[in-house]
Amino acid sequence: MPPSKYSIRQLIEMDACTNCRLCADVCPAAGAAMNGELSAVYRMQGLKRHLKSKAGVFSKLLGRRPPSAEELKHYADTVFRCTLCSNCEEVCPLGIRLKELWLSLRGDLVREEAYPSKIDMIRTNLAKRRNVFGEDNAERGEWVEDMRKPPADRYVRPRAEVVYITGCVSAYFPLAQKIPIALAEIMDASGVDFTLLGEEEWCCGFPLLGAGLMEMFEDFRAQNLAAVKAKRAATVVFACPSCYQMWREHYRTDLELLSAPEFLLQLVRTGKVPLAELPLTVTYHDPCDLGRGARVFEEPREVIRAVPGVKLVELPRSRENCMCCGGGGNLEMVDPDLAAKIAKAKVDEVLATGAPAVVTSCQQCVRTMLSYVKRNKIQLEVLDIVQLVRKALKSSP
Ligand code: SF4
Ligand code: SF4
Repeated sequence: MPPSKYSIRQLIEMDACTNCRLCADVCPAAGAAMNGELSAVYRMQGLKRHLKSKAGVFSKLLGRRPPSAEELKHYADTVFRCTLCSNCEEVCPLGIRLKELWLSLRGDLVREEAYPSKIDMIRTNLAKRRNVFGEDNAERGEWVEDMRKPPADRYVRPRAEVVYITGCVSAYFPLAQKIPIALAEIMDASGVDFTLLGEEEWCCGFPLLGAGLMEMFEDFRAQNLAAVKAKRAATVVFACPSCYQMWREHYRTDLELLSAPEFLLQLVRTGKVPLAELPLTVTYHDPCDLGRGARVFEEPREVIRAVPGVKLVELPRSRENCMCCGGGGNLEMVDPDLAAKIAKAKVDEVLATGAPAVVTSCQQCVRTMLSYVKRNKIQLEVLDIVQLVRKALKSSP
């Protein structure tokens, strides 16, 4: 783990950490596992120890020994058992960019070949199949067949003003496939000229970031950008906050990039979506990558309030303090039991509000919470914001 892999700023930030432990108090992984080793402060201390043992001057002065293979593996296990929710970063009084640090750390551990075996599966699936689940990429648009009236072109059109990137989770998981169906129906009802990329869409690359495999990313970026450009579209819409984040932060493009709540709000404000009364009380879960990551807090709430009859009650921890659902950071692949424990804590918090439905703006949050709710036969409706709007569409039978 050569120190040169970290920027000067990161090295200064590591040194600045005061061990105040505020980051540990909000960590969903450490809380659900009741294991302080999963917290940011522990990870920071381990990272500093490890870097000092690697750097010649430090090791000479301090007499540090490099960690044994077993110690390194144990440490790596704690590093990958993290949802990358960035709640630690949000509360750090020194403003240390912890999420970026965790991503750099994962990359270094992968280069050192100290990583959970599931990372190899992510690498292989993406290299061979272009989606994180290892499914046939030609079947990305199969969800269209489940629509009541699938259009003859299956929404794959030669040109359109808007490209809708569905993301891997919505494309392949039955629990999440209602999301693209709902958004396609809203766009149809609102007269939006849009297209899918079909099998030309590859994974956005977000799992590569979380797996420390960013050296593979360029092919994915180039493919997706070329596919969108071929459609001559000006706008790209994402119902997945992780895809949205990847495009905003790593695609280097002038295209207009909109998350689903931002896009829906434009449609609502311009009166393009015909909405009927929907009597329902909901609470709203801020997805980590959309909320803390992109600071999109108000738009989904404005969309919810625009649906006549819908009442919004807030969670005790909301907006920048919202507790992760357990679905991020590839945790579900690395430690599904821990992901389920975090989902339980989230669902318990939702149930305590008394709202019969929770709305979010993320396919992975929907899948994580819905899986837990179904498995435990809990009476709670889990909806993506596009499903909420679809339920209120005037044309809805
Ligand atoms: S990113 Fe989230 S899960 Fe990971 S250490 Fe920080 S608070 Fe914990
Ligand atoms: S909150 Fe920041 S300063 Fe405090 S222990 Fe965590 S990383 Fe260090």
